[in-house]
Amino acid sequence: MTVTLDPRTLEARHGTGVYAKRPLTLVRGQEATLWDDAGRAYLDCASGQGVANVGHSHPRVVAAVQTQAATLVTCQEAVHNDVRAVYLSELAGVLPAGLDRIFLCNSGAEAVEAAIKFARASTGRPGVVAAMRGFHGRTLGALSATWEAHYREPFAPLVPEFGHVPYGNLAALEAAITDTTAAVLLEVVQGEGGVRPASEEFLRGAQRLCRERGALLLTDEVQTGFGRTGRMFACEHTGLEPDLLILGKAIAGGVPMGAVALGPRVAQMTPGTHGSTFGGNPLACAAARAVLDILREENLPAEAARKGEWLIDRLRALPHRRIREVRGRGLMVGLELRDRVAPHLAALQERGVLALPAGPSVLRLLPPLVISDAELEQVVQAVDEVLA
Ligand code: PMP
Repeated sequence: MTVTLDPRTLEARHGTGVYAKRPLTLVRGQEATLWDDAGRAYLDCASGQGVANVGHSHPRVVAAVQTQAATLVTCQEAVHNDVRAVYLSELAGVLPAGLDRIFLCNSGAEAVEAAIKFARASTGRPGVVAAMRGFHGRTLGALSATWEAHYREPFAPLVPEFGHVPYGNLAALEAAITDTTAAVLLEVVQGEGGVRPASEEFLRGAQRLCRERGALLLTDEVQTGFGRTGRMFACEHTGLEPDLLILGKAIAGGVPMGAVALGPRVAQMTPGTHGSTFGGNPLACAAARAVLDILREENLPAEAARKGEWLIDRLRALPHRRIREVRGRGLMVGLELRDRVAPHLAALQERGVLALPAGPSVLRLLPPLVISDAELEQVVQAVDEVLA
């Protein structure tokens, strides 16, 4: 018997309703191109919400996953595994100096949760100061650090001792850090909150204040990590030395993974502090090793810098009054519009380009870093047509 599966009907029936669905069914991806169920190709400027930095189904990631899947998929962290061990040392090798102890988990929000726990454990203090417009995930600890009221308010009361200051306002940050502050938690470039790069002065000031007051600086690089902004990690642009660096999304080429790296100001953790059944599983570690190889061999952070500069210049040269500002770093680009972004995203999809919102009026472009110059030109043309 042949059963025809209509994913839209089935997902509508069996999903929970927490996702507002776009009218799109994706079936396949290759490099920066995605195909829908009718065989139509799209240029991907979403990367699965910032995941596919090395492109979709990169042959090296595919081979690594296939080989590891046939060898050993699961191995709890209480037992040694050489794929995990080698990956830990390779990741430590590309992280900013001093960040050489790493906890592995399965998502960005999980990495945020772990970082908050490590900061509390290390300082013996409860407080977390985060930023307005910041986004750190939807689990209760991460949500407590996330800014948007409509994400937070239905779930109050959240975790106590969390506060928010305006992103970029050093005086407000100075006033908010007290002797009960464990952590200052910041994105280096705010992603979901509108693609907003922090100033060097703010980031360096945050680092100085943390050191003066005995708090830890936590940078959430879930969206900015692994080449996205034109450096391997966005904190490298300013020589920032975070105490805890939080990673996810692109880390394993689409296989779920998150990580937190601990610097020298963070205490050594003791058994039982934290844990995860799937964390550090060999399958994800094998995929993540391939991602590091690809980023290095294809020079993707530098490529993201070059392509991003070109893209931002081209978008800034568009003559449309509808564009209030173009900003970003590397291939993390936002167009702040004077009107709502949703209809423009739908119009871009019609023209074969998939992009993302970042708040109600920012059009966000997060293409795979392997996108070609010619494909980027097509993206600019589509944006030009849609915003005309
Ligand atoms: N931090 C940042 C900066 C993010 O952009 C996101 C996801 N958009 C998260 C944390 C949460 O990651 P995840 O969805 O994997 O839990």
